[in-house]
Amino acid sequence: MNEMTIFHRILSREIPASVVYEDDEVLAFKDIHPKAATHLLFIPKQFVASIADITSETAHLPGMLILKAQKFALEQGIAGYKLTFHVGKGGGQEVMYLHLHFLTEEKVEGKEY
Ligand code: 5GP
Repeated sequence: MNEMTIFHRILSREIPASVVYEDDEVLAFKDIHPKAATHLLFIPKQFVASIADITSETAHLPGMLILKAQKFALEQGIAGYKLTFHVGKGGGQEVMYLHLHFLTEEKVEGKEY
């Protein structure tokens, strides 16, 4: 179940990413194929594959990602944005590591790792 994904490798700095925010709980980086001027992915440091796998023990994680995205937007002065979870292959989820898509037409600077 705990299969290595591309996001595990980004988290361990095994492969590079353009990181915009990090703390003890979350890493946020630019999507490699952006669907908006700024397209970020917020991932928890605690691994869960998908919203489909959330249990009462991990139910705090989606809300935590939303709060981090909200705080990030406030700090960056971003007024409007879209947040999306793709759930399962039928829901368009390709990477089986929980992630919140953050899209806005406002520009954000990333730091290359
Ligand atoms: P999903 O469709 O699973 O919800 O979204 C996965 C996202 O991860 C896609 O938007 C895709 O462009 C992005 N992605 C896939 N591989 C990489 C990668 O190696 N680096 C980065 N930064 N994003 C990736």
